[in-house]
Amino acid sequence: MKRFLPDEPKQRLRLKRHFAALAASFIYTIIGFYLHIKGYFRTDAQFLLIVLGAYWAGLLTFTFIIRSGLNLKLKDPSMTLAQMYWSIPFMLLAVYMLNDLRGIMLMAFFALLSFGTFRLTSRQFLTITVITLLGYLAVLIALYINQPLRLHLDREILYFIGFSLTCVLMVYTGSAASQLRERNRLQNIKLTRALEENRKLATTDDLTGLTTRRRFMEILGKQKAWSERDDSDFVIVFADLDHFKYVNDSFGHHTGDKVLQTFADILKRSIREIDYAARFGGEEFVVLLNNTDIEQAKTIAERIRSTLENYNFNDLAPALSVTVSMGLANFREYNSIQETLMSADNRMYKAKQIGRNRIVWE
Ligand code: GH3
Ligand code: MG
Ligand code: MG
Repeated sequence: MKRFLPDEPKQRLRLKRHFAALAASFIYTIIGFYLHIKGYFRTDAQFLLIVLGAYWAGLLTFTFIIRSGLNLKLKDPSMTLAQMYWSIPFMLLAVYMLNDLRGIMLMAFFALLSFGTFRLTSRQFLTITVITLLGYLAVLIALYINQPLRLHLDREILYFIGFSLTCVLMVYTGSAASQLRERNRLQNIKLTRALEENRKLATTDDLTGLTTRRRFMEILGKQKAWSERDDSDFVIVFADLDHFKYVNDSFGHHTGDKVLQTFADILKRSIREIDYAARFGGEEFVVLLNNTDIEQAKTIAERIRSTLENYNFNDLAPALSVTVSMGLANFREYNSIQETLMSADNRMYKAKQIGRNRIVWE
């Protein structure tokens, strides 16, 4: 049984529910045989077998369609409504053929409706119930026309009213369940959006729009694997703005923020699609230069350094000028992310020590 179920969770669930429907159908088939043996059916065994054969051929066709995945092409891959509509004519036929115990087969309709709670909308519940009631009415009329003597009209009318009222209740509870399901679905959508938002917050820095430290570390992990596989270089650049405390103190925190954004923009414009720039914290930034050796990295870093040095902050604060110190390290030299990062960091400090506004790569 386990091996017969598909691996995909939704298909698995669909097939499980279909099997539950098969089990219910099986029980009613057994009841049908029993009623036949007891002589309650107004028909011969041959006709009964043909009808049941057709019914089960239809049911097993559903099994085949769901198991083979053909159902995935349909608008409702669970085929709930289709399976319900398939069963109703057979149920009504049994009701018609039964002499006195019609009620037993009518009860099958409630079993049928209960499957609808998984899937049907209120409208579909109502439609299928109205169709069944009309069908039942047609059966009664046919019985009345064909054999008026056997039909106790007043009793049948009471049955019909009782059945209809119970149906109304079933439609009500079924609709409530379907609304609950819909609400649940909407909540799930909201939750998914909130998770996406959360993920974005965790991966992009609010102020600069750069990658966060956390995301950058994830990327570095993957980069290591890639680079080891195709034997390529990559360089990590550590950048720290010079005397940034002074910028804040002299021009205000707001100006400080603008400078951070400006530097972030310079970084973004200086690197390629395949590179990453991250804000590591405060006024510290790191850049991952893909497929790049130290010589190429020096050129890029120098471009970044001089762009910032020459940047005109006139509209922000005329006297303001900002510089950056950078340390470069090639992953090839170390073969460990941690050591490469540490080396780039150390070299950045060295750049600070020997006068700032410069690049150190050894
Ligand atoms: P150094 O050249 O040695 O790097 O000197 P520094 O002043 O840049 O270094 P320090 O680490 O002493 O100061 C960093 C400053 O950056 C202190 C902190 O107030 C400021 N800072 C950190 N994050 C932010 C931020 O998000 N916005 C602003 N405006 N300032 C920030
Ligand atoms: Mg710092
Ligand atoms: Mg600094």
